[in-house]
Amino acid sequence: MQQFIDKYDFTGKKAIVRVDFNVPLDENFNITDDTRIRRAMPTLKKVLAGGGSVIIMSHLGRPKKVDPKFSLKHIVARVSECLGVPVQFAEDCQSADAQAAALKPGEALLLENLRFYADEEGKPRGLAEDASDDEKKAAKAAVKESQKGFVKKLASYADCYINDAFGTAHRAHGSTALIADYFPNDKMFGYLMEGEIEAIENVLKNGRHPITAIIGGSKVSSKLAVLENLVNKVDNLIIGGGMGYTFIKAEGGKVGNSLHEDELIPQAKEIMRIAKERGVNLSLSVQTRVANDFSNDAEVKVVPSHDIPDGWEGMDAGADSLENWKKIILSSKTILWNGPVGVFEMPNFAKGTLQIAEDLAEATRNGAYTLVGGGDSVAAVTQMGYADKVSYVSTGGGAMLEAIEGKELPGIAAVRK
Ligand code: AMP
Repeated sequence: MQQFIDKYDFTGKKAIVRVDFNVPLDENFNITDDTRIRRAMPTLKKVLAGGGSVIIMSHLGRPKKVDPKFSLKHIVARVSECLGVPVQFAEDCQSADAQAAALKPGEALLLENLRFYADEEGKPRGLAEDASDDEKKAAKAAVKESQKGFVKKLASYADCYINDAFGTAHRAHGSTALIADYFPNDKMFGYLMEGEIEAIENVLKNGRHPITAIIGGSKVSSKLAVLENLVNKVDNLIIGGGMGYTFIKAEGGKVGNSLHEDELIPQAKEIMRIAKERGVNLSLSVQTRVANDFSNDAEVKVVPSHDIPDGWEGMDAGADSLENWKKIILSSKTILWNGPVGVFEMPNFAKGTLQIAEDLAEATRNGAYTLVGGGDSVAAVTQMGYADKVSYVSTGGGAMLEAIEGKELPGIAAVRK
């Protein structure tokens, strides 16, 4: 049975908390963005203030073996600083028995990177490239078996389990899903996870109409399921960025050298058909800033999005597109945004995406509910200083996408079931 962190009595209890401390580090192992650490603090502090202790577990990067580069020891000092207590460190997440047992109320222990073990992901490692199907099957079965012991060991350290790692909630890994079974009556979400779930429900389940989704980014293929789900839920669907050109081509437009996926034109047409049938306003870019090279310093001109000359490629939304989208955004009561409407990494083509961030902040000021997710969209609102001027900024890229595809995430299901 799912418990709730606000109601749970942590007195004298040890809580094992899955967080997402997968923070970027520079070459000297300094943290370059500690957002993920800060966002987990309310949960960790709640346990400590409630008379409990915390055993914190996370992954960092994608190590395929024990690799000091990916050690969580690099972040112990910052976690201690944020938490306000010295955080102890267990150099092996599978032999922390004594340290966990010795934890007193108010104390914290951070376990070494879970992904130093293949068991965390439950996927075989080091298989020869020419391994036969039988060998692959046997390796998979072996890691699934050893994963049970791995998870059981982690669970043995604690009295209750908290999942606060939204960023990995779409993965059915040991620490994000399987471990919950060891705490049938003592499992719960942390505040960050609760906030993320509520934000998605505020849009997809309880959103006030008109609801608008702005989906940008590079490829239709990576967000096809998202578009297919949203077209059945929203009133306005803005499709921008690289993925927009597949739709423009599907409408018979000329896209020049712009990024597009011919093989997805049938799916794009189907999404447009459903939009028409449901009365959804599907809004594509009408004007594009094109360049003669995929480079920040390329020559630029502004052309109709449906008539991009050969040798030129769409790099950012033009002023007319942004004007249309602004009107839609400002007349909406609920807005979801994921993905840039241009090549955001190049300053000369970031303007459209920054304008969307500004429009969202304005809509929020006017009373709309606004949810922003995905690396570039989050970077755009942060760069404009608007991170606290929209309703919610999601910490999960892939997890948020899967949630807006309408899937139940394994990390959420495991606590709820
Ligand atoms: P995604 O990871 O799918 O959200 O896509 C983000 C990427 O889309 C960024 O790296 C952008 O540079 C890229 N992108 C956005 N618009 C365009 C465009 N018009 N042409 C090429 N790439 C684009």
